Amino acid sequence: DLMDAHREELALLETLDTGKPIRHSLRDDIPGAARAIRWYAEAIDKVYGEVAPTGGNELAMIVREPIGVIAAVVPWNFPLLLACWKLGPALASGNSVVLKPSEKSPLTALRLAGLAKQAGLPDGVFNVVSGFGHEAGQALALHPDVEVITFTGSTRTAKQLLKDAGDSNMKRVWLEAGGKSANIVFADCPDLQKAVNATAGGIFYNQGQVCIAGTRLLLEESIADRFLDLLKELAKGWQPGNPLDPNTTMGMLIDNTHADSVHSFIRAGEAHSTLLLDGRKNPWPAAVGPTIFVDVDPASPLSQEEIFGPVLVVTRFKNEEQALALANDSRYGLGAAVWTRDLSRAHRVSRRLKAGSVFVNNYNDGDMTVPFGGYKQSGNGRDKSLHALEKFTELKTIWIALES
Ligand code: NAD
Repeated sequence: DLMDAHREELALLETLDTGKPIRHSLRDDIPGAARAIRWYAEAIDKVYGEVAPTGGNELAMIVREPIGVIAAVVPWNFPLLLACWKLGPALASGNSVVLKPSEKSPLTALRLAGLAKQAGLPDGVFNVVSGFGHEAGQALALHPDVEVITFTGSTRTAKQLLKDAGDSNMKRVWLEAGGKSANIVFADCPDLQKAVNATAGGIFYNQGQVCIAGTRLLLEESIADRFLDLLKELAKGWQPGNPLDPNTTMGMLIDNTHADSVHSFIRAGEAHSTLLLDGRKNPWPAAVGPTIFVDVDPASPLSQEEIFGPVLVVTRFKNEEQALALANDSRYGLGAAVWTRDLSRAHRVSRRLKAGSVFVNNYNDGDMTVPFGGYKQSGNGRDKSLHALEKFTELKTIWIALES
């Protein structure tokens, strides 16, 4: 309730920290964060143990227990939302949490700590430690009293956390890491304009700083030119503007260093691929507008590296087999989409895609009831849904011998 009551204040803090459009902070980030807390609070008394069907002289009970101290380390692209995807299930299942927000976006986490105190959470149950990753973050990763680290961020940091857990107390490490998701459009796509709209949203929303962004667009040859014409036209509506203006749909990248990194991917890509749309031409130093590369070599850095900006990489394909091979040719496996009106193909392709979430005739539908997470180097475990509780509870069996 307090989060809802402070929605405007929290949204303003989020936009000040990240440069994301205020309309998105107000509509998506803050209500989504509050919903995650509510959803787990509501769900927790529907989760209970089991009695196993053992022989008649024993009773075997299977119960779930809280684990202890959970460290939650989160990134800057959806600071409060991603924190609450972890806080919700970790607190509801009876643990204490130390949250470390990104050094680039600590404001909403710190404000949330104030609201939690006001809401009556006992001291010590929810803690926020701000600071740099290699200092505050690593101190948590190595800490002997932290029993679980739940992380969202880059694959590079994720690998470091696995090492730190091994070097300390073998704490459990749950990882939501990078992505390079494929968005496959077959010629029998039921509604091409809908697919174009979703493709644009899937790569330009949040300035492309979305782990599950549809960064690799795979187009069947016969519709490719038409699709690209429509997409280029639509992209004109996604231009960077003042994040505090309620009409702005595309804001700033997180900072100038990150903008430089996105620029350098575009510069390097220009040498080998055709730039259909160049987002560098805009008046804002920390912004990159919609950028589209076409006919990109699937083995190139543009196709393989996570750029984390509004840079779409397009490759054409001839048939289903080739589309699948291209889509799965990635070390990441967070999301994938398939656009087709052929139900059998939708089933076949969804099952063969190596991705945690597959979207058929949509891009990035989501709900608290549905798990979110990745295959391969996109991570392990799942955020959201009842499955997230598995990360924050220990399974115990209690055997009771019965007297006859
Ligand atoms: P990052 O890995 O640099 O930082 C994430 C968090 O980890 C920050 O709080 C940072 O301070 C901390 N950190 C950094 N080094 C650390 C260390 N050695 N020990 C402990 N903590 C450390 O990532 P970022 O740049 O903030 O975020 C962007 C990345 O996050 C992208 O790769 C994106 O794909 C990923 N992401 C993934 C998901 C998902 O659900 N899979 C969601 C959002 C973002």
